[in-house]
Amino acid sequence: MFESLTDRMSKALRNIRGVGKLTEENTAEALKEVRSALLSADVHFKVAREFVERVREKSTGVEVTKSITPGQQIVKIINDELVELLGNDTSEISTARPLRVLMVGLHGSGKTTSTAKLARLFRKRGMKPGLVACDVYRPAAIDQLETLAKEGDFPIYTDRDQKKVIKIAKAGEKELISQGCDVIIFDTAGRLQVDNELIQEVSDLKQKIQPEEVFLVADSALGQEAVNVSKTFHEATNLTGIILTKLDGDARGGAALSMKSLTGVPIKFVGTGEKMDAIEVFHPDRMASRILGMGDVVSLVERAQETVDQDEAERMAKKLRKADFNLDDMLSQMRQVKKMGSLGSIMKMLPGMNGIEIGDEENKKMGRTEAILLSMTPEERNSPNLINGRRRMRIASGSGTHVRDVNQLLKQFGQMRKMMRKLKGKNPEKLMKKMGG
Ligand code: GDP
Repeated sequence: MFESLTDRMSKALRNIRGVGKLTEENTAEALKEVRSALLSADVHFKVAREFVERVREKSTGVEVTKSITPGQQIVKIINDELVELLGNDTSEISTARPLRVLMVGLHGSGKTTSTAKLARLFRKRGMKPGLVACDVYRPAAIDQLETLAKEGDFPIYTDRDQKKVIKIAKAGEKELISQGCDVIIFDTAGRLQVDNELIQEVSDLKQKIQPEEVFLVADSALGQEAVNVSKTFHEATNLTGIILTKLDGDARGGAALSMKSLTGVPIKFVGTGEKMDAIEVFHPDRMASRILGMGDVVSLVERAQETVDQDEAERMAKKLRKADFNLDDMLSQMRQVKKMGSLGSIMKMLPGMNGIEIGDEENKKMGRTEAILLSMTPEERNSPNLINGRRRMRIASGSGTHVRDVNQLLKQFGQMRKMMRKLKGKNPEKLMKKMGG
């Protein structure tokens, strides 16, 4: 899948990922290569241009962490932008039951095959799918769906004598629901090209059936043309998702990469072969990492970013040990903790504090504490003794808390400081033991 794009992307990034210092030149050079890799994968030129622009903006002034190179950081930025381009989150499917899914698309896009593939996928999720053959023009299409339904042992509704497609759809839905199906997939007629008649038919069907999902099946080999087809269908039927087929072929990736940003419709599934199980839920993050072929660098940067404030944490721990700690430090500690998600890593740096877990309730309390600290002036945080009754009232109202909360915080702080003083200069582990800890 996307071999040549992956190849070119890896080449574009091979040089930059190692550089220790980003200059305008080396960044520009890498981004030029990225842009041309995207263009040669048939990504729409506007999409490619905006992509590179966003990466450039985010790369200037990146905060660099000790354990990774700026080049690695850029790889991560490109990865994140790719994920964004591919649609960010994995799109969910409606949880309504019965769930009605209208399948639309051109001839040969893989619509009928995808209908049967989806049915299998739904069954794996514990649902009971049924199929309705809504192509009134090509009897062969009905035969094809029938064969697939038989193979997969799915109930199917057909009516070869009925030429009114809406009647077939309605009757099919009723019949299959009465048989216990909780997901009805309507396979509609296609055309070789988008034409008014086809668009009219699917938009009528959409109106009359009011399906929860309308999936366009699009052949990724068509590249930008697949994007144009999707736009037209989207205008007529308000698509809820796209099934991009034939990604196992020599598709260059352009359709997958431009689809979401040019149509606004998320890719929900991809077809990766002719076999009935060759369908995958589309995960933008996994796809981005496949395309870049740099999963290792991306996870390295992610890990480094998790511990980005290690230096700050160490500085704080030192202050704590020296009992040189004011409310400003408390505030900055709070922010650290918020960034890191848990108090754990700071705690662990304090001897004897290992293994203390901080839960949700504590995190909520921390939010309140932060609000109180932020409502103080810098002088107050620096010299907590300044905070008299009037100031406490002001701080409480400023932070949307009560004076008793402010009092409690100050009391807690006082106790902390007292404890720090006691600890100062002593072997903390011995002290903890003495205190029965
Ligand atoms: P329809 O006219 O849109 O209903 O298209 P079909 O479902 O009949 O598919 C057209 C052809 O594409 C068939 O030969 C399918 O086996 C093939 N096809 C469909 N999806 C895929 C896919 O994801 N990968 C590959 N390689 N072939 C596919």
